[in-house]
Amino acid sequence: MPYLTDYSYNQLLERVPIKDIDWIDRAFFTKNIFDNEYLYYFFNQLELKRLWKERLLLSKDKENIGAFQEVPTREDNFDFVLSIEGKVKFHKDSDCEALHKGFKNFFMPEPVVELKETDEDKYKMLVQKVRQWFKENGFTVRDYEEGKLTDRRLTSAFNAYFPEKYNIPEIVESQNEESQFRWFIEKKTKRAVAVERSFEYDQFIVDITDLIRKRSELCGSKTMYNLSRYDFLRKKTKEEILKRIEESIENEYLKEVQPVFLENYGIKRLVQFWNDHFKLKIQAMNLLSDYFKWTYNYNLDTFDEVFLEDYNLEKCKMCYELLPNDFN
Ligand SMILES: [Zn+2]
Repeated sequence: MPYLTDYSYNQLLERVPIKDIDWIDRAFFTKNIFDNEYLYYFFNQLELKRLWKERLLLSKDKENIGAFQEVPTREDNFDFVLSIEGKVKFHKDSDCEALHKGFKNFFMPEPVVELKETDEDKYKMLVQKVRQWFKENGFTVRDYEEGKLTDRRLTSAFNAYFPEKYNIPEIVESQNEESQFRWFIEKKTKRAVAVERSFEYDQFIVDITDLIRKRSELCGSKTMYNLSRYDFLRKKTKEEILKRIEESIENEYLKEVQPVFLENYGIKRLVQFWNDHFKLKIQAMNLLSDYFKWTYNYNLDTFDEVFLEDYNLEKCKMCYELLPNDFN
């Protein structure tokens, strides 16, 4: 009976293909996903498809769930010194020790990260060099935690080697311990990834109604309702936002928005509006997800090991006891 964290659950959701569906319209949404037409307008097509997929997956609707296809391997995240590799894991149950270890790593220093935008080849090359340099010098999480390795020591060692050899700026060294560049990152695992969440249907309806009211207060006009569907642009630059919105007005995907409106309203305010809208949407998504889980009685037996392995998730070596006892 495999146990999935929120992360691995979402990974599974991303990987499972469903039978092609071009466009989820309002009628489809209210009939097959959730019977409330106001909720339909919270989401864009990508999000609607994700909700549909989650419902299918939990209902075990074999008709509509596609067979395993080539699943891309996890992409390396170049932001960190210790590379994150391997398949996404599932556990025997929520007591597994690995779930409580958290995430520990070292940040790539700023002079390297800056290159991401300007010279990607050099950036990737330097990421590898920094990783290699860590290995060769034997810099480890354990030494850092025990105080044998400090930010100051890492920074001076970096500055003594990389800037001259690779023609990049130094990491700014500060006399003040507080403002030193911090190499280390630690994230604790969130508790309560349990499958048996409490769910009250009546409260769920109250919460959904509340979100619909908040969204209508936030938007208030046709222009803003239509613009809300572009909240995926909230992290883009001003130029990218303007370009995309202007194109969409021209193609008539985006109606009831005059080009001059953006000038008057201001991009900063628009981004704030999108952030607020996105927050409401995430809450709505989570509520619906909990509702699906409750409807289909999601529990440790919902997905079996074979099913998960089909989608390229793998057993955690720790709790499935695939390693000798003295591991770690
Ligand atoms: Zn485990």
